[in-house]
Amino acid sequence: MTEVEIFGNKPSKVPSDRRALLPALKNGLRCRCPKCGEGKLFSSYAKSVEVCDTCDEEIFHHRADDLPAYLNLAITGHIVVGLYLLTDRYYDMSPWVEVSLWAALAVIMTVLILQPIKGWVIGLQWANRMHGFGGNGEDGTLDQDVDPTRYG
Ligand SMILES: [Zn+2]
Repeated sequence: MTEVEIFGNKPSKVPSDRRALLPALKNGLRCRCPKCGEGKLFSSYAKSVEVCDTCDEEIFHHRADDLPAYLNLAITGHIVVGLYLLTDRYYDMSPWVEVSLWAALAVIMTVLILQPIKGWVIGLQWANRMHGFGGNGEDGTLDQDVDPTRYG
Protein backbone atom coordinates (compact mmCIF):
# COMPACT_ATOMS: atom_id res chain seq x y z
CA MET A 1 0.00 0.00 0.00
CA THR A 2 1.14 3.52 -0.83
CA GLU A 3 -0.29 6.76 0.52
CA VAL A 4 -1.46 9.08 -2.23
CA GLU A 5 -2.97 12.54 -1.94
CA ILE A 6 -5.60 13.05 -4.60
CA PHE A 7 -6.78 16.59 -5.42
CA GLY A 8 -5.93 18.00 -2.02
CA ASN A 9 -7.95 15.45 -0.04
CA LYS A 10 -6.42 13.70 2.91
CA PRO A 11 -3.93 11.04 1.85
CA SER A 12 -5.46 7.62 1.28
CA LYS A 13 -3.83 4.27 0.84
CA VAL A 14 -3.87 2.70 -2.60
CA PRO A 15 -2.37 -0.63 -3.64
CA SER A 16 1.15 -0.12 -4.96
CA ASP A 17 1.01 -2.99 -7.44
CA ARG A 18 -0.80 -1.88 -10.57
CA ARG A 19 -2.85 -4.20 -12.72
CA ALA A 20 -2.47 -4.15 -16.49
CA LEU A 21 -5.52 -2.49 -18.02
CA LEU A 22 -5.37 -3.67 -21.65
CA PRO A 23 -5.10 -7.42 -20.95
CA ALA A 24 -7.97 -7.13 -18.45
CA LEU A 25 -10.13 -5.33 -21.03
CA LYS A 26 -9.21 -7.86 -23.70
CA ASN A 27 -10.02 -10.80 -21.42
CA GLY A 28 -13.31 -9.17 -20.52
CA LEU A 29 -14.22 -8.70 -24.18
CA ARG A 30 -13.52 -12.42 -24.68
CA CYS A 31 -15.88 -13.12 -21.75
CA ARG A 32 -13.01 -14.55 -19.75
CA CYS A 33 -11.75 -13.82 -16.26
CA PRO A 34 -9.94 -10.45 -16.26
CA LYS A 35 -7.16 -11.85 -14.06
CA CYS A 36 -6.20 -15.15 -15.68
CA GLY A 37 -7.94 -14.92 -19.07
CA GLU A 38 -8.93 -18.56 -18.96
CA GLY A 39 -11.88 -19.01 -16.60
CA LYS A 40 -15.38 -18.28 -17.85
CA LEU A 41 -16.75 -14.89 -16.81
CA PHE A 42 -20.46 -15.68 -17.20
CA SER A 43 -22.57 -18.49 -15.81
CA SER A 44 -25.48 -17.53 -18.07
CA TYR A 45 -26.15 -14.87 -20.69
CA ALA A 46 -25.76 -11.79 -18.48
CA LYS A 47 -25.03 -13.35 -15.09
CA SER A 48 -21.38 -13.31 -14.11
CA VAL A 49 -19.81 -16.11 -12.12
CA GLU A 50 -19.23 -15.58 -8.40
CA VAL A 51 -15.64 -16.83 -8.51
CA CYS A 52 -13.36 -17.74 -11.40
CA ASP A 53 -13.18 -21.52 -11.67
CA THR A 54 -9.55 -21.38 -12.85
CA CYS A 55 -7.78 -18.86 -10.58
CA ASP A 56 -10.36 -18.38 -7.77
CA GLU A 57 -10.53 -14.59 -8.35
CA GLU A 58 -13.74 -13.24 -6.85
CA ILE A 59 -15.86 -11.72 -9.60
CA PHE A 60 -19.00 -10.93 -7.62
CA HIS A 61 -17.58 -7.52 -6.63
CA HIS A 62 -18.32 -5.99 -9.98
CA ARG A 63 -21.00 -3.36 -10.27
CA ALA A 64 -21.45 -3.13 -13.99
CA ASP A 65 -25.06 -2.06 -13.40
CA ASP A 66 -26.47 -0.23 -16.43
CA LEU A 67 -23.19 0.80 -18.07
CA PRO A 68 -23.10 -2.21 -20.46
CA ALA A 69 -26.65 -1.41 -21.60
CA TYR A 70 -25.81 2.27 -22.19
CA LEU A 71 -22.65 1.39 -24.10
CA ASN A 72 -24.60 -1.20 -26.08
CA LEU A 73 -27.21 1.39 -27.04
CA ALA A 74 -24.58 3.89 -28.10
CA ILE A 75 -22.62 1.39 -30.20
CA THR A 76 -25.63 -0.29 -31.77
CA GLY A 77 -27.37 3.02 -32.39
CA HIS A 78 -24.38 4.55 -34.15
CA ILE A 79 -23.83 1.51 -36.36
CA VAL A 80 -27.49 0.91 -37.26
CA VAL A 81 -28.31 4.56 -37.88
CA GLY A 82 -25.07 5.03 -39.80
CA LEU A 83 -25.81 2.04 -42.02
CA TYR A 84 -29.39 3.23 -42.49
CA LEU A 85 -28.25 6.67 -43.60
CA LEU A 86 -25.62 5.18 -45.88
CA THR A 87 -27.93 2.69 -47.58
CA ASP A 88 -30.79 5.18 -47.76
CA ARG A 89 -28.60 7.38 -49.90
CA TYR A 90 -27.89 4.68 -52.50
CA TYR A 91 -30.85 2.27 -52.36
CA ASP A 92 -34.55 2.87 -52.62
CA MET A 93 -36.13 0.34 -50.26
CA SER A 94 -39.75 0.16 -49.22
CA PRO A 95 -40.49 1.32 -45.67
CA TRP A 96 -41.44 -2.22 -44.59
CA VAL A 97 -38.15 -3.61 -45.78
CA GLU A 98 -36.27 -0.85 -44.00
CA VAL A 99 -38.16 -1.29 -40.73
CA SER A 100 -37.69 -5.06 -40.84
CA LEU A 101 -34.03 -4.87 -41.74
CA TRP A 102 -32.90 -2.21 -39.27
CA ALA A 103 -35.04 -3.42 -36.38
CA ALA A 104 -33.77 -6.97 -36.84
CA LEU A 105 -30.17 -5.76 -37.10
CA ALA A 106 -30.56 -3.65 -33.96
CA VAL A 107 -31.98 -6.56 -31.96
CA ILE A 108 -29.37 -9.03 -33.19
CA MET A 109 -26.48 -6.64 -32.53
CA THR A 110 -27.78 -5.79 -29.08
CA VAL A 111 -28.00 -9.45 -28.10
CA LEU A 112 -24.60 -10.33 -29.57
CA ILE A 113 -22.52 -7.53 -28.05
CA LEU A 114 -24.05 -7.18 -24.59
CA GLN A 115 -22.01 -9.97 -23.01
CA PRO A 116 -18.61 -8.80 -24.36
CA ILE A 117 -19.41 -5.23 -23.31
CA LYS A 118 -20.30 -6.36 -19.80
CA GLY A 119 -17.10 -8.40 -19.70
CA TRP A 120 -15.18 -5.30 -20.78
CA VAL A 121 -16.75 -3.27 -17.96
CA ILE A 122 -15.91 -6.00 -15.43
CA GLY A 123 -12.33 -6.04 -16.74
CA LEU A 124 -12.16 -2.26 -16.38
CA GLN A 125 -13.36 -2.43 -12.78
CA TRP A 126 -10.99 -5.29 -11.96
CA ALA A 127 -7.95 -3.52 -13.42
CA ASN A 128 -8.73 -0.33 -11.50
CA ARG A 129 -9.54 -2.22 -8.28
CA MET A 130 -13.01 -0.77 -8.20
CA HIS A 131 -15.86 -2.04 -6.00
CA GLY A 132 -13.88 -4.47 -3.89
CA PHE A 133 -11.62 -5.93 -6.58
CA GLY A 134 -8.28 -6.14 -4.85
CA GLY A 135 -9.52 -4.89 -1.52
CA ASN A 136 -11.49 -1.75 -0.96
CA GLY A 137 -10.80 -1.02 2.67
CA GLU A 138 -7.93 0.95 4.11
CA ASP A 139 -6.23 -2.25 5.23
CA GLY A 140 -6.88 -4.13 2.02
CA THR A 141 -9.91 -5.97 3.34
CA LEU A 142 -12.91 -6.41 1.14
CA ASP A 143 -15.78 -3.97 1.08
CA GLN A 144 -18.22 -5.15 3.73
CA ASP A 145 -21.32 -3.66 2.08
CA VAL A 146 -20.99 -5.83 -1.00
CA ASP A 147 -23.67 -8.48 -1.07
CA PRO A 148 -22.67 -11.16 -3.61
CA THR A 149 -26.29 -12.16 -4.18
CA ARG A 150 -27.35 -8.63 -5.15
CA TYR A 151 -25.14 -7.94 -8.13
CA GLY A 152 -25.35 -10.13 -11.19
ZN1 LIG B 1 -9.43 -16.38 -13.42
